Amino acid sequence: MLVIRLNACYNRPPTKHPSVRMMIGPHTAQRVLEAALANGADLAELYLEDRASLNLSLEDSRVEGAVRGADRGAGVRAFYGNTAAYAYTDDLELESLLRAARAAAAAANRGHRQQPVLDLTRSPSTLDFPVEKPFEVWPEREKSALLHRIDAAARGYDPRIVQVSATYSEYSHRVWVFNSEGRWAEDERNIVEVSINVTARANSILQQARAGFGGQMGLELFERRDAQAEAREVAESAVKMLNARPAPAGEMTVVMRNGWGGVLFHEACGHALEADFINRGTSIFAGRLGQVVASPLITLLDDATVPARRGSYRFDDDGTPAQQTVLVERGRLTEYMWDLAEARRAGRRSTGNGRRESYRYLPIPRMTNTFIAAGESDPQEIMRSVDKGLYVARLGGGQANVAKGDFVFSVTEGYLLEEGVITAPVRGATLIGNGLKVLAEIDMVGSDLELDRGQGRCGKGQWVPVSVGQPTLRVPRLTVGGTAT
Ligand SMILES: [Zn+2]
Repeated sequence: MLVIRLNACYNRPPTKHPSVRMMIGPHTAQRVLEAALANGADLAELYLEDRASLNLSLEDSRVEGAVRGADRGAGVRAFYGNTAAYAYTDDLELESLLRAARAAAAAANRGHRQQPVLDLTRSPSTLDFPVEKPFEVWPEREKSALLHRIDAAARGYDPRIVQVSATYSEYSHRVWVFNSEGRWAEDERNIVEVSINVTARANSILQQARAGFGGQMGLELFERRDAQAEAREVAESAVKMLNARPAPAGEMTVVMRNGWGGVLFHEACGHALEADFINRGTSIFAGRLGQVVASPLITLLDDATVPARRGSYRFDDDGTPAQQTVLVERGRLTEYMWDLAEARRAGRRSTGNGRRESYRYLPIPRMTNTFIAAGESDPQEIMRSVDKGLYVARLGGGQANVAKGDFVFSVTEGYLLEEGVITAPVRGATLIGNGLKVLAEIDMVGSDLELDRGQGRCGKGQWVPVSVGQPTLRVPRLTVGGTAT
C-alpha cells in the first residue's frame, strides 16, 4: 500500500461553521477519477470531507477558552487488484485533486486505462439522522453555562465531592465519496457529547468516577438527557465507592449490568471479527464462518443504521450504504465486518464497515454500533439466581488480544452479589478471561438491551466514534482479580 501526501501550497483559512455545502460537483469528480484510472487501475475513488468542531472544558469551576477546529481535504485511491495506492491533499482546487489522482495512478503502470468512469449517480439513503436543534442555536456562553450547571450539581450532591471537571464537544462532519463504478454517496454526521469527571474524598481515600453522554444529534440532546441529573449520578457513584471494601479474588459468577459493559465484547470479540484480521489469518475467528462460537443465547450485531448513535452513518467512508450485520446468530458465526478493500481481496461483498479517521487515512474495517441482542431472562431473575458473586455496574479501561481473545478489564463500579441482592461496593476488581470462552459460557441473557450513553471512541491506529451495548448478562465462572487478601 502506497500513501502519498501532497502539501497545499498555501495556508487555507479556517472553514466557517457550519460546513460549506457541496465542495465539488460530479463533473470535477469524474475528471479526477479518469486521471486516477490512467495507468490501468481497476477502480478509482475520490473521498472529500469537511469537518468542524468545538470543545469547551471546565476545570476548578472555570471554563477555559473554546477550542475550535476545522479541516477539509480529499484523498484519491486507485485499486490495482488486491493492492491500492492512495494520495491525499488539503487543497481542494482542481489542479491539486488531479495531482493526487496522478500520484495514485503513478503507483502502477499497466499501460493504459482499461476501465471507463461510469456515470456518477447520487445514491439515495432512507436513513435519517435529524438534527432538530443545530449547534449554532446556542451561543458559546450557553454551552459554558451548561458546564457550570454540571459542576454545581456534582459539587452540590455531597460535600465529599472535592473536584469536578467536565467537557462539552460538538463535531460536524460532511463526507462525499465518488468512485469509477458510478457511486456518488454523501453523508453528514453530527455528534455532541459531554463528559464528567468527579473526585470524592473521605480522610485519605480519594475516589474518582467518570461518565458522559451524547449522540448523533443536535442540542436536543439536552432536552432528552438531564445534564445535572447525570452529574449527580456520577457524584453518587464516586461517593458510594468511598466506602468500598477490597474486591474478592478468584473464580466467581459475574453479572454485568446492561449498557456500557458491551465494551468488553467490542474489545474481546468485535475486533477479531474485522475482516483485515480475518484475511491475514491473525484472528481467533478466521476460517470459522458457520461454526458454533458462542452460547445459543448469544446473537451479536453490528448496526450502523441505529438512529442517534455515535457509530451510525448513511454511507461508510468507502461510499457503501450502512447496514445491520448479524455477526453471531444464536451462537453461530455468520459474518465478518468488511470494508471495500478487504472484501475485494476475499471476493466478498462489503458490509459497509469501511471507516477512516480523516482523509489522511485509508479506510479499514471498523465496528460501528456493536451489541449483544436482548435475550429472554428478567434482569431481576438474573440477580436473584446468584448466591455469591460480583455485580459489575461500570467497566473501566481494558485490553484484549485479537489472536487469542484474552482480556483484562478493570471494574470501576462493582458490588458484591449475595443471595441474589446487591450488597457492599468493592474496589480494585479486574475481570480476567477469554472472549470466546465467555461467549460460550454465558448462561443468562436479560431482556433489557441497552446501548451505552454515547461516549465511545475506538482506536485502531485511527480514532472513530462507536457505540457498544448489551443486556444484563450472567457469566457463571469468571476470574476476578481482586485486592482482598
Ligand atoms: Zn475498539
